[in-house]
Amino acid sequence: MTKELEQLKQWIEESDNIVFFGGAGVSTESGIPDFRSVDGLYNQQYKYPPETIISHSFYVRNPEEFYRFYRNKMLFPDAKPNAAHLALAKLEEQGKLKAVLTQNIDGLHQDAGSREVLELHGSVRRNYCTRCGKFYGLSYIVNADGVPKCECGGTIKPDVVLYEEGLDQRTMQKAVNYIRHADILIIGGTSLTVYPAAGLIDYYRGHKLVLINKSVTPMDGRADLVISGKIGEVFAEMMQ
Ligand code: NAD
Repeated sequence: MTKELEQLKQWIEESDNIVFFGGAGVSTESGIPDFRSVDGLYNQQYKYPPETIISHSFYVRNPEEFYRFYRNKMLFPDAKPNAAHLALAKLEEQGKLKAVLTQNIDGLHQDAGSREVLELHGSVRRNYCTRCGKFYGLSYIVNADGVPKCECGGTIKPDVVLYEEGLDQRTMQKAVNYIRHADILIIGGTSLTVYPAAGLIDYYRGHKLVLINKSVTPMDGRADLVISGKIGEVFAEMMQ
């Protein structure tokens, strides 16, 4: 075990107030591509860049194309939690971890057993009719043809924060509170480039800021501990 991992293990053993903040890199070992890795969605070729397709204005103008991309590239109904999701759920069960704050929309933290999960960008598992408000699950969207419609005839929209849309302020406030009071803040699998979520790091006031990522991030210089590697492998080794 590296000395960085030993350090993290010791901090975790001594703490009962850990907060985890993660992004798409937490789920790549579950087979869900992130956006910014070399094999991520931003490096694949589409008629429009992904930021354009998954923006609010594109969704309104061109829902067919939006749903074609969304269904093909962002829905992974068979994905299973990996060692990172499972370790975080275990730490919560042990009374050590207070909350998982995630930019992910895949629901894998809940599948792993995490209870306090703040989904800053929503979830593919919740979809609602823009006319009557009725909710639909993921399988309805996966199995629908074209733009999914409600039984009332309205269009169904995923409860996911698209580019140009604001984040839920109550969820953000809760996230800020968790971070402000955290003893250890572990950040993993995020490029820390998507705002306002990435700005959450500014609320941390402790001295145990841990970054786990397979590539460098713009915030590495601010961390007390940087662990370079795949987050599932890192947690698997640490929880042994
Ligand atoms: P990002 O794609 O910008 O960055 C992912 C980061 O994780 C990169 O720095 C990459 O090097 C790192 N990474 C990839 N695999 C890793 C691994 N196994 N271990 C450690 N690090 C790993 O992702 P982001 O910062 O979360 O921001 C992108 C936005 O994309 C978010 O808003 C999120 O909603 C959305 N998104 C979500 C999913 C999902 O729900 N699984 C997937 C793709 C994108």
